[in-house]
Amino acid sequence: MDIPKTSKAMVLTEFKKPLELLDIAVPELGPGDMLVKVDLASVCGTDVHLARDELSMHPPTPIIMGHETVGEIFYLPDSVTADITGAPVKVGDRIMWSHLFCGKCYSCKVLHEPVMCERSRGYGFSGAAELRGGYAEYEVVLAGTDFVRIPDEITSEEAVGACCAGRTCVNAFDGLARCGGIRQGDSVVITGVGPVGLFATVLAAQSGAAKIIAVDVSPTRLEFSKKWGATHTVNAADYKDSAEKVKYIRDLCGGRGAEIVIECSGSLAVFAENLDMLAYYGKYLIVGQTSESEIPIVPNKIQRKSAVVIGSHSGDIRHYIKCLKFVQANKDKYPFGEIISKKYKLADANQALEDMRAGIALKAALVND
Ligand SMILES: [Zn+2]
Ligand SMILES: [Zn+2]
Repeated sequence: MDIPKTSKAMVLTEFKKPLELLDIAVPELGPGDMLVKVDLASVCGTDVHLARDELSMHPPTPIIMGHETVGEIFYLPDSVTADITGAPVKVGDRIMWSHLFCGKCYSCKVLHEPVMCERSRGYGFSGAAELRGGYAEYEVVLAGTDFVRIPDEITSEEAVGACCAGRTCVNAFDGLARCGGIRQGDSVVITGVGPVGLFATVLAAQSGAAKIIAVDVSPTRLEFSKKWGATHTVNAADYKDSAEKVKYIRDLCGGRGAEIVIECSGSLAVFAENLDMLAYYGKYLIVGQTSESEIPIVPNKIQRKSAVVIGSHSGDIRHYIKCLKFVQANKDKYPFGEIISKKYKLADANQALEDMRAGIALKAALVND
């Protein structure tokens, strides 16, 4: 099969400027590199912030964004015959992949935590000429990148959530499990039910939790969270102040607060307020905080409650695989594909970002013509 000379891509040439539709030369493939045709590239909240340079990381522009990609194998080198689980792959198969970890640094070798890799090569954050972002027609998957074949039984829309929000939550729940996890009868409060919060909701729904309380300010998101297993929804905008809202939620949890609070909103004020929702010995799982900004908290609230605070960042291929299995096993129970609320043509990526920022789209996704 002839490798195309160029690929269309929506390029972030400069922060805070609209993306530009450009033809990018397909780089020469090295030994073991694959080329995929982008089937579905969903837009992450991170992209919305990255485009405006609002993240704690500041990669150099120009960038092709998009780290949540389902790609169809277009060119497969002879040296690659199977995905990381050993499942055979061929041209035309759909795959998803993690960032490329070096396998040699302290985090990879000693901690066995590749997400902390000191020399990782990312997808969706690298230089445009490298063609490693989903906002494009084609994408290069570098040799050594962990990838997994998407089972035929799940659609790209059902699968794509596993690329970011899903794998992040599976990793976070593994971290929570190391600290005792969710026990039978626990109350779980989830603040922010965008894509990350939705995956936290559905994973909690399949645990032994008695109550899964979704908190957000968007009636649409709250309504949707019920389809993913929320037993109660709380619109934070309905309360005159924080104290009233916290009391309402603590009362829902039998007056003693929640055994588990999962922060997925990204709001600093919510992050601080959540300490008041926790029950004694509660566990506070933080997944949604990406900014570098500060907020005052009272450390005594953690100490006095003997609370456990757990942070979790991203995920590696283990979490993609587990998330895909979870989606496959539960796809008749929860509408995973509906997380993609609207599809846009690649050239309309700016509109997709705008709609995500405005909260019009729960998750936007880009498709090629
Ligand atoms: Zn993402
Ligand atoms: Zn490494």
